[in-house]
Amino acid sequence: MHTTKYLIVGAGMTGDMAAKGIREHDADGSIVMVGADPFPPYKRPLLTKGLWQGAPEEKLWREPAEGAELVTGRRIVAVDLDAHRATDDLGEEYEWEKLLLATGARPREIPGAEGVVWLRTLDDYHQVRAKATEGARFVVIGGGFIGSEIAAALSGAGCQVTMVFPDPGIGSRLFPAGLAESVADYYREKGVEVLAGQTVSAASGTSVTLGDGRVLEADGVVAGLGVIPDTELAEAAGLEVSDGIVVDEYGRASGRDDVFAAGDVARFPVPALDTSMRIEHEDHANTHGKVVGGNMAAAGIVYDHLPFFYSDLFDLGYEAVGQVDSRLEVVESWQEPYRKGVVTYVEDGRPRGVLLWNVWDKLDAARDLIRSGEGTFAV
Ligand code: NAP
Repeated sequence: MHTTKYLIVGAGMTGDMAAKGIREHDADGSIVMVGADPFPPYKRPLLTKGLWQGAPEEKLWREPAEGAELVTGRRIVAVDLDAHRATDDLGEEYEWEKLLLATGARPREIPGAEGVVWLRTLDDYHQVRAKATEGARFVVIGGGFIGSEIAAALSGAGCQVTMVFPDPGIGSRLFPAGLAESVADYYREKGVEVLAGQTVSAASGTSVTLGDGRVLEADGVVAGLGVIPDTELAEAAGLEVSDGIVVDEYGRASGRDDVFAAGDVARFPVPALDTSMRIEHEDHANTHGKVVGGNMAAAGIVYDHLPFFYSDLFDLGYEAVGQVDSRLEVVESWQEPYRKGVVTYVEDGRPRGVLLWNVWDKLDAARDLIRSGEGTFAV
């Protein structure tokens, strides 16, 4: 039996920052962090970015929070909120005063597609890396964040890459149609075969069958089809869940002051947009984790941050903040079409999100615009 003041379920970036947030407000309260991954918390973004650009694996590791006990390779399978107990998959019990669910999300998979790497963890990265020799043939399924980043990474490693996704362009859920199609053309120029508008009917580690019956043979198949928030523990415990564990501005779940959720798994209020969101990106994982951790130690901090996200697509790069959703009305301002410019996402005449395409150091200005509720961004 572990007896601890703070129990953090999930040892990803959010859990790690929560432990640090606790430490800022409680110098010696005991912290136990339990993670299903066999590794201590690591910088997940490097798995599709930096490690492919020459960063050594040592760069993955994060400085642990002082005095936090880490239990790796264990999954918490049950929590009893009234008894203040949790149980892991080996039957070990944890008694806690404050609980944080930072369980994150798991990849969406195609049923029966054995051998495909649903890229999310360091183990997954190692599997891809082991096959990524010069000239190896890869099929990448999905044209979202994982698909676009790993396709560029594999291509940079000298592999022959074919991308397959149902949308007409790369990043179609985020970018206006012209930009998404231009990014697909840019990938083609870089030597990636881009099969847009294609569904997948079956896949394995060595082949992908398209909806039109064509079969692509490969040395490796990697997929990024989106993620599903890991809310099962919260649901079983009777907490409010609605595409994520519903939390308030302090990260408290179902109005309790002893149970919290943060990061990918949490649906949190966004007053600047007068809505709630669930965000699956690094900046949110870090800032929400830290604030909510602090609040577990009674810091009373309101989370009113508008998190940003970013990506690099070969030599193109962007930062974005707010609701970056191609279903919204868009106002585009290009200095050089699809190479340098800004897109404002608008709903009911109000700016909801801003995409800064090869435009840097403008995130705060973009946040100000969104908070002001009027206008659009121009380069
Ligand atoms: P994603 O960005 O939501 O992209 C999912 C992609 O898979 C879309 O192109 C989607 O196409 C496609 N898709 C869905 N079902 C499919 C199917 N059956 N066959 C073929 N394609 C299919 O999700 P992700 O790329 O998997 O990323 C996973 C998570 O990691 C996300 O939470 C993301 O935020 C995070 N991440 C973030 C970054 C970053 O911030 N730079 C980088 C890497 C990962 P449709 O749109 O047509 O459905």
